[in-house]
Amino acid sequence: MGAADLRVRGLNAGYGPVRALTDVSLDVPDGAVTAVLGGNGAGKSTLLRALSGTLRFHGGAVTGGTVEYDGARLDGRPAASVVAAGVVQVPEGRQVFARMTVADNLRAGALGRRGDRAAQQAARNRVHELFPVLADRAQQRAGLLSGGEQQMLAMGRALMARPRLLLLDEPSLGLAPMMAARIAETVREINTQGTTVLLVEQNASLALRLASHAVVLETGEVALSGTAEELSASDEVRRRYLGVADEEAAADA
Ligand code: ATP
Repeated sequence: MGAADLRVRGLNAGYGPVRALTDVSLDVPDGAVTAVLGGNGAGKSTLLRALSGTLRFHGGAVTGGTVEYDGARLDGRPAASVVAAGVVQVPEGRQVFARMTVADNLRAGALGRRGDRAAQQAARNRVHELFPVLADRAQQRAGLLSGGEQQMLAMGRALMARPRLLLLDEPSLGLAPMMAARIAETVREINTQGTTVLLVEQNASLALRLASHAVVLETGEVALSGTAEELSASDEVRRRYLGVADEEAAADA
């Protein structure tokens, strides 16, 4: 593993009396796409919030375990300090600033990361190349964008903070298949450009096509982990997350 890998060990987290993560350990290798799969309420969003230091904004807390990135501890740090370390989250539900323009949303993304104007301009150019629509609509209010375009803006805003590790929470949620495929293609491109990605997805087939490794969370615990190839071939993953057995059963009926 390279120096910038993320290492999670024995992570426990919850919301008051609600236990959401129990003894979760995983590695996110530098340079790769790693996926976190699991059904509703499995703890996927909680895991990303725990990594990004934003759990407290949701009334939650990390109660045990460690998160190490690039050799330094991230757990216990405020969210802004995690961003400054190069770990940036795109939260679930495309939370753009609806009343602000697209350009101002992108500017807001850059606030989290110190840098000179040239670095910021390079980040904006990268975002505009990945998502030309954000350049075309720069002066439009973000709330007027389509769902897919808002997802692009949420990702673009995160990229303005120049992450080394991008945490993506269900980028395909609620999008039509063509738009979901388009977002997936962009995730691949972002990764190819050198940004490590940790991708949370309910859409297991999409995630396993993008990722090299994956973990499956079930009721807050790691139930399975392995290479994307291994998990795609696993009967349990095929049955529970890829719906393969259901299709076969339907074909037999
Ligand atoms: P989904 O795919 O439905 O978003 P998830 O895998 O991301 O699910 P989490 O949102 O992390 O799952 O939820 C894990 C557990 O924590 C669930 O039992 C959920 O009800 C609980 N939970 C999540 N957010 C909160 C919150 N803000 N306050 C209290 N409980 C919460």
